[in-house]
Amino acid sequence: MKNQKKQKGQSKNRQSRDIEGQQLFHGRIIKALADFYYVDTEAGVFACKARGIFRKRGQTPLVGDFVEIRTTQAQDIEGYVEKIAPRKNALQRPPVANVDQALVIFALKTPDLSHNQLTRFLVALEKSGVEPVVLFQKSDLCSADFARSCQEVYQPCGYRSLVVSAKDGQGLEEVRALLAGKVSVVAGPSGAGKSSIINAVLGRSLQETGDVSRKTGRGKQTTRATELIELPDLAGEDGAKSYIVDTPGFFAVDASAIAEGELAGLFPEFISAAEQCRFQDCVHWKEPDCGVKEAVAAGRIS
Ligand code: GDP
Ligand code: ZN
Repeated sequence: MKNQKKQKGQSKNRQSRDIEGQQLFHGRIIKALADFYYVDTEAGVFACKARGIFRKRGQTPLVGDFVEIRTTQAQDIEGYVEKIAPRKNALQRPPVANVDQALVIFALKTPDLSHNQLTRFLVALEKSGVEPVVLFQKSDLCSADFARSCQEVYQPCGYRSLVVSAKDGQGLEEVRALLAGKVSVVAGPSGAGKSSIINAVLGRSLQETGDVSRKTGRGKQTTRATELIELPDLAGEDGAKSYIVDTPGFFAVDASAIAEGELAGLFPEFISAAEQCRFQDCVHWKEPDCGVKEAVAAGRIS
């Protein structure tokens, strides 16, 4: 602590007081709003600012980041983010790191399931390095056979899926088990029944939970922030906290971020079939002797 650099804009007095009261904590950023990062630690939630060094390096702390903070008694600021641990993945929209899984929620009916649109979500998540789990929603509106036939399209690709209904409660326990101990982001088109199924699983409205800002005395925020909403009655086996990423927009697909040559690699079911392609850089489109097109023709790939 002795060789602490003097913080900009702070008087000598404040500086020495800070050093006296400073403590280091490890924690996780659970909310970002304005310039503040709310860091959940064993000693509670601290409203922190990031050290200027991050901006100089072009680094931005993200919700979901595991960080080291140093507390301070500076007015309004409870701590500084000092270190960010390496990330396992990071999404741009919503801006959140270390996501364990994405619940990709699509209605089986109303609207009709679009495999094309669902595939776009899966490809985008594959690119982000976030594991998708597909929730086929509104199962009360279709036959069990139809729901199963939809699952069977994605199972050979290695994607897990559940058939659920917010209306009659099908699959709610499985979704709860899925969420336990993990950070989950919710994805899917509007009208798919995302809010309905999440609210049914939680037994309350997601929008009414959270609000860590209250603890810091800042009052209820009117701006919606990216936030990890803790599901307190749903801890993982080892006591790990469960979170849902609450964001105004849900997960968005940005196809323009994917380069043409990269696209084929984002379909896990292509990998073994592509070994039979004549060209190593085959995009499985117009090329002759394409193992992927052969597998499609033979019905091994949807
Ligand atoms: P979101 O836009 O994805 O969050 O979708 P909502 O949860 O707002 O639901 C969209 C519409 O689907 C609403 O009219 C809901 O009442 C309806 N809906 C949601 N879940 C179900 C369900 O399980 N079964 C049926 N039949 N309708 C549902
Ligand atoms: Zn090919």
